[in-house]
Amino acid sequence: MRTDLTFDAPLLELNTFGIQAKARMLLTYDSETALCERLAAIRRQYGNLPMLHIGCGSNLLFLGDYPGIILKSAIKGIRLLSETQDEVLVEVGAGEVCDDFIAYAIQQGWFGMENLSLIPGQVGAAAVQNIGAYGVEVCDVIHEVKGISLEDGSTHLWKRDECGYGYRQSIFKAELRGKYAITYVTFRLSKHFQPKLQYGGLVKAIEERKSLSNSPVSEGWGGSENTLSAMLLRQVIIDIRRAKLPDPKEQGNAGSFFKNPIVTKEKADQLLADYPTMPHYPAGEGKVKLAAGWLIEQAGWKGKSLGPAAVHDRQALVLVNKGGATGADIQKLCEAIRKDVAERFGTLLEPEVNLVNNS
Ligand SMILES: Cc1cc2nc3c(=O)[nH]c(=O)nc-3n(C[C@H](O)[C@H](O)[C@H](O)COP(=O)(O)OP(=O)(O)OC[C@H]3O[C@@H](n4cnc5c(N)ncnc54)[C@H](O)[C@@H]3O)c2cc1C
Repeated sequence: MRTDLTFDAPLLELNTFGIQAKARMLLTYDSETALCERLAAIRRQYGNLPMLHIGCGSNLLFLGDYPGIILKSAIKGIRLLSETQDEVLVEVGAGEVCDDFIAYAIQQGWFGMENLSLIPGQVGAAAVQNIGAYGVEVCDVIHEVKGISLEDGSTHLWKRDECGYGYRQSIFKAELRGKYAITYVTFRLSKHFQPKLQYGGLVKAIEERKSLSNSPVSEGWGGSENTLSAMLLRQVIIDIRRAKLPDPKEQGNAGSFFKNPIVTKEKADQLLADYPTMPHYPAGEGKVKLAAGWLIEQAGWKGKSLGPAAVHDRQALVLVNKGGATGADIQKLCEAIRKDVAERFGTLLEPEVNLVNNS
């Protein structure tokens, strides 16, 4: 049982935007007991300070120094809880890197998360954010989420249906925001591989990969979809993502900065009358999802800079730190884009990235 408390902690390595900021305290912990005991001790000494739980900082924008305690989980472990002929229940420590778990699960023959390969971040954050890609959301495979109250140290378990999951949304980002540390996530994974290939040009990419007879991941490919291995699908997704998205180690970013807006069908029809080629997708009864990247690109922002903050030149949904940007620089660009898109299309973009205030 270990905790590590650092005062005046630099956050540069703890956020993928590469923002230079500091936290008054940074507390890492490797067990639920360690978290509760150390927090109680800190409270006795310093009183109630603001608290923010982070993972790998890949969906955060620090707008300045953080005046309170930043918590970071180092709870590890992957535990098989139960198994039937068809599925497994596996409990994973919130501090595990989500992509490492996906790779491990595939090796074990546990399927369902392949399409989420290479999304940065920890398992706990994945359950908070309801991460999604290529037609899969993590809530599809979540069975249960466990958390510790940051107020009184009590334990709480939420079944999947109690987590308020929606598009990049959960109860932990809404009414419970900042109230709990997620400590474990239990996944329900299938023992039967059922590839989901309908999104993002996956079929074409896999066909191309198949034709590379000496490709290391074409092993096991038998010519029909049934024999498509999960490992191959994972590798194809990793390759597409690497080609499409800037690597935060080279250029600071937090992935998609904005959520794709969901509008009424009437609103979408109005826009389609003016922009017949506008991408749009059904999003439930009377609702339509628009592509935020397309709106930003149409508004002329792709590749544009505002000081040291810029819109990526290949992916308009991604804002980047060209070097030395502050959180305020990125926020300024974010607001300029929102205003422009709202004026042109009558649609207000909402940031997907969590903006962290310095108060
Ligand atoms: C290059 C790149 C590509 C990306 N692609 C995708 C994508 O395809 N799909 C997608 O959905 N996302 C994507 N993202 C966003 C990001 O990877 C996810 O949001 C991820 O879940 C963030 O994980 P993290 O550990 O970095 O969490 P952080 O960014 O540190 O935190 C995210 C949120 O979770 C909360 N939190 C974190 N851990 C805990 C915990 N243990 N207990 C309580 N609250 C917690 C934080 O307070 C914060 O609100 C991408 C990001 C980058 C940089």
